[in-house]
Amino acid sequence: MQFELTKEQIQIQKAVRDFIKGEFKKEEIHDLLDRHAFPERLWKKAAELGFIGIHFPEKYSGQGMGVMENILVAEELARGDSTVGTCILIADFATEIILHCGTEEQKAAWLPKVAEGQCLSCGAFTEPDHGSDITTVETTAVRDGDEWVINGSKIFITNSGPLAGFYNVLCTTDPTAQPGHRGLSLILVEADRPGVATQDVGKKMGITLTYTAEVTFKDVRVPLSNLIGKENRGFYQLLEFFDESRILIAAQALGIAQGAFDRALTYVKQREQFGKKIAQFQVTQHKIADMATKIEAARLLTYKAAWNFDQGHMDPKLTSMAKMYAARTAVEVCDEAIQLMGGYGYMQEYDVERYYRDAKITEIYEGTKEIQKNTIASVLLGKMK
Ligand SMILES: Cc1cc2nc3c(=O)[nH]c(=O)nc-3n(C[C@H](O)[C@H](O)[C@H](O)COP(=O)(O)OP(=O)(O)OC[C@H]3O[C@@H](n4cnc5c(N)ncnc54)[C@H](O)[C@@H]3O)c2cc1C
Repeated sequence: MQFELTKEQIQIQKAVRDFIKGEFKKEEIHDLLDRHAFPERLWKKAAELGFIGIHFPEKYSGQGMGVMENILVAEELARGDSTVGTCILIADFATEIILHCGTEEQKAAWLPKVAEGQCLSCGAFTEPDHGSDITTVETTAVRDGDEWVINGSKIFITNSGPLAGFYNVLCTTDPTAQPGHRGLSLILVEADRPGVATQDVGKKMGITLTYTAEVTFKDVRVPLSNLIGKENRGFYQLLEFFDESRILIAAQALGIAQGAFDRALTYVKQREQFGKKIAQFQVTQHKIADMATKIEAARLLTYKAAWNFDQGHMDPKLTSMAKMYAARTAVEVCDEAIQLMGGYGYMQEYDVERYYRDAKITEIYEGTKEIQKNTIASVLLGKMK
């Protein structure tokens, strides 16, 4: 058993930390937050440095690394700044569907654009009436000659905005299939196709700099060759994608937890009350010990899930455990960080209230914590359930 990062992985970690130290400036970030503006400059810079799509093959402008290296980058980005970091770590969201299931043409057309920071990518699965349960999908794709005609609506779609390049759209292609999920397919829809329209969902609790929109598809025509992978296998392809993407969200949560912890740790060593540093109170020490232990446990689960994925194994139980545990840790650690920083922790100036708001999404998207528990239990109980 080997618990140490390789030299190369440590270098990647250091490179991201240097990027954050050099480029994540408080003034710029607060200005972006005030304007609700996507951090375009930092996203492009991160792409230039090879941090986006680090796990794509080099021939598609990636770095030929694994999921492990991708989540190390994600962890550091979210640690450096939970809001800006999230925009960057999720910039290539769902491109892995093309990477693993797409045709050579699809990969050559889109992977370099995403990795080079020319566009953002989107996974369009959730619908207004179908969130946790995506076994039923109302968006349809109907064959017409050599084209698919797509109609429907998707909600809460990350990266859907002026910088979006394409959508991986979950559609019903065989409405007669029983059960319904055997009639679903994933289809690539370029964002500039006529009939694609987006509407921002409005103000959010956290991750306020990411684009989140409702997307409607009205008689959108794409060539049959835009099918991703196999017809009517979209649901299964998506499950495989979740096995990877949930590790990324676990890393996002882990980074947010670590970032809030870093700030609280610095604070308790400086703040004095009753003639002592508050770090000298035993209750503070116990809180710090609990927070650090939870973060370490979340890290072990997340790294193990990533390592496992890179060995070519699918393990939905492990992935769901990592995502569920890291997300809970993020929420709990941020809560405690605010508490340790008292009234200052509640102020925007000190960041941890924002980390807290940004942490919560990790318990919702890519499957809620309840859905993660369902996955874990169904593996443990099998048919008993
Ligand atoms: C900011 C943001 C970004 C997002 N980005 C994307 C994106 O890029 N692409 C995309 O496709 N989607 C995206 N989503 C959607 C997200 O994945 C869904 O919101 C999530 O899966 C939950 O679906 P829902 O909101 O419809 O809630 P529901 O499914 O209606 O769930 C409501 C509650 O019921 C619980 N519940 C549901 N079913 C069960 C069950 N079987 N057992 C126990 N409890 C259950 C849930 O856990 C939850 O607590 C995003 C959402 C947000 C808020």
